[in-house]
Amino acid sequence: MYEDQTIRQTAAHLKTDIKNGLTEEEARERLKKNGPNVLADDSRKSVLTMVFEQLNEPLIYVLLVAAAASLFLKEVSDALIIIIVVAMNAVIGVIQEGKAQKALEALKRLASPHALVLRGGHFSKIPASELVAGDLVKVTAGDQIPADLRLVFTSHFKVDESLLTGESVPAGKDALFLTEGPKGPGDCKNMAFMSTGVTSGSAMGIVTACAMDTQIGKIAGLLKATPQESTPLQKRLADLGKFLSIVAVTLCVVLFVIAVGQRRNILEMLMTAISLAVAAVPEGLPAIVTIVLALSVSRMVKVNVIIRRLPCVETLGAVNVVCSDKTGTLTQNQMMVTKVYLNGKLTDISGTDTSGADCSVRDIAGADLFMKGFLLCSDALISENERIGDPTELALIEMAAGAGLEQEKTQACYPRIGEIPFESSRKMMTTLHDGPDGVIGFTKGSCDILLERCTYIYMDGQIQPLRKSQRGDILKAMEGMSSRALRVLALAFCRYEGSFDRKNLPAGIPKEEGLTFLGLAGMIDPPRPETHQAVRDFMKAGVRTVMITGDHLDTALAIARPLGIARARSECMSGSQLDAMDDDQLASVIDSVSVFARVSPEHKVRIVGALKAQGNIVAMTGDGVNDAPALKAADIGIAMGKNGTDTARSASDMVLTDDNFATIKKAIGEGRAIYGNIKKAILFLLSSNFGEIITMFAAVLLGLGTPLKASHILWINLITDSLPALALGIDKNDQHQLMDRPPRKASEGLFAKGGLFVTLFYGCLIAFISLCAFLTVPYGILKSQGMAMTLQAIENLLQDPELLARCQTYAFTVLGMSQLFHAIGMRNVERSVFKMKLFENPLMTISVVLGFFLQFIVTEIPWLVQAFGTVRLMGYEWGILIFLAAMPLVAHELLLIRLPGK
Ligand code: ATP
Repeated sequence: MYEDQTIRQTAAHLKTDIKNGLTEEEARERLKKNGPNVLADDSRKSVLTMVFEQLNEPLIYVLLVAAAASLFLKEVSDALIIIIVVAMNAVIGVIQEGKAQKALEALKRLASPHALVLRGGHFSKIPASELVAGDLVKVTAGDQIPADLRLVFTSHFKVDESLLTGESVPAGKDALFLTEGPKGPGDCKNMAFMSTGVTSGSAMGIVTACAMDTQIGKIAGLLKATPQESTPLQKRLADLGKFLSIVAVTLCVVLFVIAVGQRRNILEMLMTAISLAVAAVPEGLPAIVTIVLALSVSRMVKVNVIIRRLPCVETLGAVNVVCSDKTGTLTQNQMMVTKVYLNGKLTDISGTDTSGADCSVRDIAGADLFMKGFLLCSDALISENERIGDPTELALIEMAAGAGLEQEKTQACYPRIGEIPFESSRKMMTTLHDGPDGVIGFTKGSCDILLERCTYIYMDGQIQPLRKSQRGDILKAMEGMSSRALRVLALAFCRYEGSFDRKNLPAGIPKEEGLTFLGLAGMIDPPRPETHQAVRDFMKAGVRTVMITGDHLDTALAIARPLGIARARSECMSGSQLDAMDDDQLASVIDSVSVFARVSPEHKVRIVGALKAQGNIVAMTGDGVNDAPALKAADIGIAMGKNGTDTARSASDMVLTDDNFATIKKAIGEGRAIYGNIKKAILFLLSSNFGEIITMFAAVLLGLGTPLKASHILWINLITDSLPALALGIDKNDQHQLMDRPPRKASEGLFAKGGLFVTLFYGCLIAFISLCAFLTVPYGILKSQGMAMTLQAIENLLQDPELLARCQTYAFTVLGMSQLFHAIGMRNVERSVFKMKLFENPLMTISVVLGFFLQFIVTEIPWLVQAFGTVRLMGYEWGILIFLAAMPLVAHELLLIRLPGK
């Protein structure tokens, strides 16, 4: 409806002031009345659904059938135990999933976009969720449209509306366009719609609809929530899980068949085989990965990293090349103009107030125009309490302010009537102004590009033809500043006297040819103090740092050298050199280049491609709208949270909320730790389950009594598979240990580097000690009677149900406790348990203590003793059993094998 209303009508309808926007109070009222500007999220699962999902497993069905069968046979305690275990498993599963869901939702909120809104005559940046109908919003290239807007001003404004229209070519917009009659979103040239992305230009618009009233809100119900993407590890685990399930079930069937052949109690063996299958099938593996990833992701927020795609956490640990842009990531992005080149003279203005006693700059011919030009040809905003915009421009405005120019007044005096916005591929921008002395255009940008467009120079207050020698002097001045790590921006102007036809220039298309060169501004942007250490740490961790910048090669090298990224010019390559190479040539040299300068976003895609072609796992940072393809092409696309655009953010896998290079190091460290933890949890689960199967299998094969009852297996499964495995998954890791070695290979499997050994060795060890425990009593009896320890003799002894119950209690206790000891050792297979910090992993401490307690009460509390068919144990028996159960930890100390990353 607003598309066929004029701007004035729209403003009147929405009761807003087109010049100053809504007042803060009015906005608050409207927010209170209409609620936040967020799309309803229907991806949330209800508790009931989660419970149902937990129970909707074939093996759980089998277990429930087994419970019903026990009930039918009046084995009430067995049935109860099964039901309790199933219920508790479901509860634990739901709690864990709920936690994971909450963590992910919190992340979604963190990653939500902001909007530049005009309220009470002042611009401020607010969360897009706080926008209300009637608000005036400014959007520029790279922004995501925060609500439906009726445009009131547009300049070269194009929007990617593929989300709504399916049209992949960006749609041009025009605030002055008027439609007639109802039209689809694609026809509304004077409107911009929520969640679509600005590809170029800038615009102002009145918010016409928020949240579910927007075009996207209306179809949000139709759009299916995107299913959670599985990580490569999850996929591999699901396959492994399937394979192991088949193996486990087959083994259990074989076990049952053998037992039947041995004329054992069929029902009991059936129950045992089913329980063993349930315990041994690692159906929880992918779930553990999801939970660990989700929890770790919320931990990462604390180190300023927002993970947007879960699978990237896994890849992070394998990254071996980090491509970083310079400005703001490696450097502080707190620029300050320290040198100006004006009227053929280089002047140092660092530490001086250009308006104060040292008026050296102001006295130079053209200084006024120079300051004015930089100030007017900028989109940044400095007000009393806010600094919004690009730091390069903020530095230039500050320089002009130092020379006594007020931004608001100057802008009012020279209203902008046209512009060609900045694009990093063009490396310049132009604005057109209607000033008191006629129309004037200012162009600012990189010196080399701008010089090509200048035919005149402003010298001694006059416009003169630009001579070759002057060109040479300018380039020399630029190189001098660049080699001192200064970022150099040039300024040129063009007067449109007399001949200027305003009528034909409504949107203002200024020229960028035949310009008059005015001067250069050189600004420092010191490296972040933590960058130096981060680059060194990366080196130690086998990760190469590559600088990719749009800036001049000399400036780039001057910053890269002290940081240790590059030593000589031979390690640098410029965009034009890159253009001269084909992909094969580039791939052959790429591993020896550490600085790419004067590159455009298109170059970044080629660089990523070449690095990947050499087998590297590449993380790449980006901030601009044009960086999106490179971010997508990289194994891990990293967007800047502070100064990055929404487009870059939505194309990325991960966002740095502090734009800081050193944060990438923390993220990679976390990525390695998380992978290591998941591996630990999985190997622990597999080895424990393997131990259970072997214990049972060996006993049955040897024709001995069954060492474990169905209820025992389920109980052990309950106490070891949930908390200890999760505790391993969220273990705190030694960063030194993680970052002092090269990254793992992306193709490396879980069983590599000792993984298979751990699974088999500890599985066999646990089975061995459990069987020893099972045979301890018969051995004692036979020994005291002076009889030989034969299978037949043992079997005869085990015919006595009381003795069998004691032996089973031994095996049960040792099997349960040994897995707890095993979990402690698995925290770090390379470190002695005496050197591990106990309280660094409180969940592990809690789960082990709780596990011991639970294992203790099944043999001590009379009704549990009865339910589990166990016997009460004496003190000395506990001593023997704890000694046996501690063997995995003893083995851990003896082995201290090295696992991940070695
Ligand atoms: P990095 O890629 O390391 O962040 P960068 O900021 O120099 O470096 P771009 O933003 O692509 O990369 O800028 C490229 C060049 O364009 C800069 O070196 C500078 O010469 C010029 N430039 C940067 N910002 C502006 C601007 N706001 N207006 C005009 N020219 C600019």
